[in-house]
Amino acid sequence: MTGLSATETGILERIKQRQADMAAQVVDWAQVNSGSRNLDGLERMRSLIAARLHPVADTVETVPPEDVTTLDEAGNPTPLLHGSNLLARKRIAATRRIILTGHMDTVFPADHAFQSCQLTEPDRLNGPGTADMKGGLIVMIEALSALEAAGVIPDLGWDVVVNADEEVSSLGSARLLRETARRCQIGMTFEPSVTVNGTLASARRGSGNFLAVLTGRTAHAGRNPEDGRNAVIAAADLALRLDGLKQTIKGLSVNVARMTGGGANNVVPDRARLSWNMRPVDHEGQHSAEEAIPAIIADIQSRHEVDVALSGSFARPPKPFDARHQALFGLVRETGADLGQTIDWQPSGGVCDGNNIAAENVVVVDTMGVRGGAIHTEQEFMILSSMSERAALAAITILRIAQGRLDDALARQPDSAGAIHA
Ligand SMILES: [Zn+2]
Repeated sequence: MTGLSATETGILERIKQRQADMAAQVVDWAQVNSGSRNLDGLERMRSLIAARLHPVADTVETVPPEDVTTLDEAGNPTPLLHGSNLLARKRIAATRRIILTGHMDTVFPADHAFQSCQLTEPDRLNGPGTADMKGGLIVMIEALSALEAAGVIPDLGWDVVVNADEEVSSLGSARLLRETARRCQIGMTFEPSVTVNGTLASARRGSGNFLAVLTGRTAHAGRNPEDGRNAVIAAADLALRLDGLKQTIKGLSVNVARMTGGGANNVVPDRARLSWNMRPVDHEGQHSAEEAIPAIIADIQSRHEVDVALSGSFARPPKPFDARHQALFGLVRETGADLGQTIDWQPSGGVCDGNNIAAENVVVVDTMGVRGGAIHTEQEFMILSSMSERAALAAITILRIAQGRLDDALARQPDSAGAIHA
């Protein structure tokens, strides 16, 4: 005996019938290379996804990326190109809204060896971007298609964002994600589950990537070293000072990743580059790091008499697992139980667009995509049957949100921040 209503059973049956089509589609999509820097491949992928969204959405538009810059060898700003994004909307006038997101880019560039799919077991597909996350995009679109075909969420609007740069921090799509999220109360992102059993990610740390280019003054190491200003020494000092923030900012992880500079032994080096990643556990940690970095750089500049150009930011804010999130995850778990699926969750050190959506006061579950694993490697795989499984989980959870089930759950939370904001 399941807890599914007749309407829900109808949706489940429709989705089950779509399993073979979903499996065929994920192979087609995975074999289109859409590495984050392959702008032609991203454009092909975007038109394939748009064609699937057109029949189900009211509007589908292509949104060009924001202008983003990085630093060139000399420390001057230089453009960093990204692909265009998709925004699909349904019932634009509805004020109760859900944002659904996924990314079309993968970590595999056009010249990578890993470009095609193969079945390694009857239900296990190995292929680039299968789990992360072309399978998830299909799950998302099938869930929405089933709901719209049944006409069961007449008062809930939805906005789908499919971006082209998630694997490179969503710098070109951050504004689109932010502005779309602000219109919505609930969010679902279709990243793969954390484990092959379907476990969801709960709390996530934030993440920021940074690059500093240091410019000193060159001189002969023997003749007039006192006229030189050694950029490599300044970069080394900067690296140690940044690493030291681990001691003063609670829970902050710092990874000084790469340091380059200098040349011949008899020349005082006038140029060095340093890049690093930082992951705060909460907003307080992020703000402390944001204050500490420029202060350290100012000190390095005056102490070593060098110029420092800095680029980067905390593009992924921390995503705490608060009472409102517990309510949403509880609804997903309850829906899973009615479908015969066991849903658990655990914190994740990784980051995704769920971080950015949560930062806009949206309650979001960001691992609603397929079950799979070994992502970002040539062993990446997905469980094919998890496509209809997760599409049913998403569709029925969304239906229950539309019916007000989450409002009830939120109201039962004693320390809730209140009902979802309208
Ligand atoms: Zn991903």
